[in-house]
Amino acid sequence: MSRRKLVAGNWKMHGSLAQLAELDAIAEAARANPQVDVAICPPFTLIAAAAARGDVTIGAQDTHPNEKGAHTGDVSAAMLREAGAALVIVGHSERRTDHGESSALVRAKAEAVIGVGLTAILCIGETEGERLAGRAVEVVEEQLSGSLPSGADAANLVIAYEPVWAIGTGRTPTAEDVAEMHAAIRAKLRTLLGNPADQVRILYGGSVKASNAAELMAVANVDGALVGGASLTAADFVPIIEAAAGA
Ligand code: PEP
Repeated sequence: MSRRKLVAGNWKMHGSLAQLAELDAIAEAARANPQVDVAICPPFTLIAAAAARGDVTIGAQDTHPNEKGAHTGDVSAAMLREAGAALVIVGHSERRTDHGESSALVRAKAEAVIGVGLTAILCIGETEGERLAGRAVEVVEEQLSGSLPSGADAANLVIAYEPVWAIGTGRTPTAEDVAEMHAAIRAKLRTLLGNPADQVRILYGGSVKASNAAELMAVANVDGALVGGASLTAADFVPIIEAAAGA
């Protein structure tokens, strides 16, 4: 089953107008590797300027589930679309933990994203304690079924498996553990979505960098990467795009 790889950068609460200069070299790498989809998700404040700058697909890192209303500080999916976002990350573990987001809320956010014609990158992943307790697959399957938006298909949904203990720590699961989890996610998606599940992309995220990208991208059912720290500069991010292109 052939799925185009997607390498998406999550800038989190980093970046400035000056840093958008990084997008030029990232766009060049995207053009040089047309078999890979490339995206950057900067903070809300940079989306419009980033989208206006050029060829890199731009995404957001969160959305409110409602279309509009009295929700001070929040941004709707339609607003993100108007600003130039094509993708929206939902359910990142930093949101689930720091903002107490439940799977039901994440599902509502993903449905809002899909509802305005954008693509949701739905993040799921276990904590270290859950993995040590032998519950990693069970927890991830629960998050997947609890957060999966209705109306999902391969055109509007991407899954990102991000073990919480691997995010920003420099640690990654073994290739065998990644293969086991991505196969479990694919199997669960089949029970939830039927045949379209075979075309849904499943990204790996958590301390992906130039030195480990090729090994991770070669794992079965790994259809790209969601990258935090190593997406902040073209120097770190471009080799990951190239690794995905070579996989
Ligand atoms: C992330 O936050 O989505 C992430 C994968 O971060 P990092 O690559 O820095 O571990």
